[in-house]
Amino acid sequence: MADLSADQLELKASINKSATIWGAVLGVIVAIIAWLVLGSLDSPVRAIGALVLGGAAGFGIYRWQFGSQSKSAQCGKCNAAFSITRTDRKETEAGREDKVERKPQDDGSTEVTRFTEVKFDVVDTYTCGSCSDVTTKKYQVTRRENVQTKVDPAPAPAAEPAPASAVSAAKGGAAPSTDSPQPRSPSGGLGRGGSGSE
Ligand SMILES: [Zn+2]
Repeated sequence: MADLSADQLELKASINKSATIWGAVLGVIVAIIAWLVLGSLDSPVRAIGALVLGGAAGFGIYRWQFGSQSKSAQCGKCNAAFSITRTDRKETEAGREDKVERKPQDDGSTEVTRFTEVKFDVVDTYTCGSCSDVTTKKYQVTRRENVQTKVDPAPAPAAEPAPASAVSAAKGGAAPSTDSPQPRSPSGGLGRGGSGSE
């Protein structure tokens, strides 16, 4: 690789840094998983195995990240390495919609999240530092605004004469069945979010 300009060296260094972080974080995760999986082996073997696997995974991920990020930083026009940087980003709001998400919890209560989903059209501008070629990339992102989460307590059990008050008081904290008089069938479908009419 010939002489890189200061800007190119800087971009190369930042790609190197980001690839190193990727490799280190995922390498450590792999090492921990390997340590757990190798639980039946003697400690020294286990430690060495975890280190080798974590190190190999981390190095592989570093190489892969460095390669792919370097490739996307190479200009398609003049072929200069480490020359493409994002020079502008424009976001335009493209619509908003109020939404509700219901997640059944293990204790029978329901976590209700209300939020506004906002869509943005994004235009990123990339400029080559060598030939000044400009390319743009358009895509859409969504973000959540005004997120509010509350927990609807479990519906009072109808059939079971078990001491439900003690259980739900210990688990949920909220008093049972004083809130949310929604006529929803208790239990029924944990997996499928039942009422799709909102
Ligand atoms: Zn170029």
